[in-house]
Amino acid sequence: MNPNLINQDHSNLGRSTSEYQALDAAHHIHPFSDTAALNTHGSRVIVRGEGLYLYDSDGHKIFDAMSGLWCVNIGYGRRELADAAYQQMLELPFYNTFFKTTHPPVVELSSLLAQISPDGFNHVFYTNSGSEGNDTIIRMVRHYWATLGQPKKKTIISRINGYHGSTIGGASLGGMHYMHEQGDLPIPGIAHIEQPWWFANGGELSPKEYGLKAARALEDKILELGVENVAAFIGEPVQGAGGIIIPPSTYWPEIQRICDHYGILLIADEVICGFGRTGSWFGSEHYGIRPHLMTIAKGLSSGYIPIGGVLIHDKVANVLIAGGDFNHGFTYSGHPVACAVAVANIHILQNEKIIERMNQDVAPYAAQLWHDAFDAHPLVDDVRSLGFFFAVTLVEDKASRKRFSNGSEMALRCRDICLKNKLIMRATGDSMIAAPPLIMSRAQAAEFVALALKCVDEYAREIG
Ligand code: PLP
Repeated sequence: MNPNLINQDHSNLGRSTSEYQALDAAHHIHPFSDTAALNTHGSRVIVRGEGLYLYDSDGHKIFDAMSGLWCVNIGYGRRELADAAYQQMLELPFYNTFFKTTHPPVVELSSLLAQISPDGFNHVFYTNSGSEGNDTIIRMVRHYWATLGQPKKKTIISRINGYHGSTIGGASLGGMHYMHEQGDLPIPGIAHIEQPWWFANGGELSPKEYGLKAARALEDKILELGVENVAAFIGEPVQGAGGIIIPPSTYWPEIQRICDHYGILLIADEVICGFGRTGSWFGSEHYGIRPHLMTIAKGLSSGYIPIGGVLIHDKVANVLIAGGDFNHGFTYSGHPVACAVAVANIHILQNEKIIERMNQDVAPYAAQLWHDAFDAHPLVDDVRSLGFFFAVTLVEDKASRKRFSNGSEMALRCRDICLKNKLIMRATGDSMIAAPPLIMSRAQAAEFVALALKCVDEYAREIG
């Protein structure tokens, strides 16, 4: 019997796989999907998760090396979060925070976030998602500068291949051309500079030299637009959806210097990096940068329930607080059930020292395995890892750093081989990327790397 075929009892909530697929095809438009193509194959039906494994409707056990969508930091199946939601639903399932009102879960979460955030971050504004967090940031920074008497300071500078969400504001901040092509994006007031990817853009420069060059594109853009028009710079400490782009060590210090010099706000989109992914609570701490605003979501609740927000440094919070009404908010800003679940999630991260253990033990071990497996592999290059981020870029010729002209097709082939082998990794451009749950043990790290290598080897054989 196939060892992946276990747990038949739990695998099905009453319908067969083909019934789920037929109903799904009939009634569900999937995000970021070619629905017609998807429906010819039928969706995978995931019915259960435990630790870092998922189970599909046919009973297969699958290694989820993507933590869902970069979010299930504490792993699947933690009862404490379900209990927190259940208790809160009985006590107070909903009340808003608009009209001179608060409630215990939102107070607890806000003070807990102030405790775990870098110095000076004492306030939070809640949203339901990372996209809404970044939309909130657009409105917040404009309101901040207007309150200070500089309403012309509106433009936010962002980066090519950055991902900041899917709402009109988030997709505009993001630098994904295939998103901009649909619906006339970006909106006015957003400008993009290059992403700090040495392997792709560094040419003959050393990584350190290239890091400075990529950061100085920000200075050039500020001067081109006029500093009197620039409100802020936004970036993910490590670009996630853009392909796990780990910037050279010189990049973020130079970005910080430029933001300080021109007096523009620095915004860290911590939606993926936050809550431990880099080995620190926030990616900004890993790089030693001092942002004014940080977008959070995903790992805030380990994805168990939708919640996001903006962490606000005192420098901005004091202006907002003195500035009168901020006419912005969502029905579910600070939703009591979501806040209660996020508190339970942060307590697990703290009490079980998940980030410390990962950072000091499993991450260095897994990085070593990753490099041992791939550094000398003839069909991959730019082998990269940081915390629990892992990536390789598929190449046609390693010696000359030659990339495939159809790199995303090649990566999708490799991704499909991973899925066939019951490993979830993601294909982004010509890179294969992974971000497993932070609870991954040493043994599971070995299992993950061995599976990934098996899949890349199979891909290598397939393309001859
Ligand atoms: N920002 C970053 C860095 C992200 O990776 C994402 C989602 O992947 C978002 C924002 C958008 O978050 P959401 O999908 O919760 O709207």
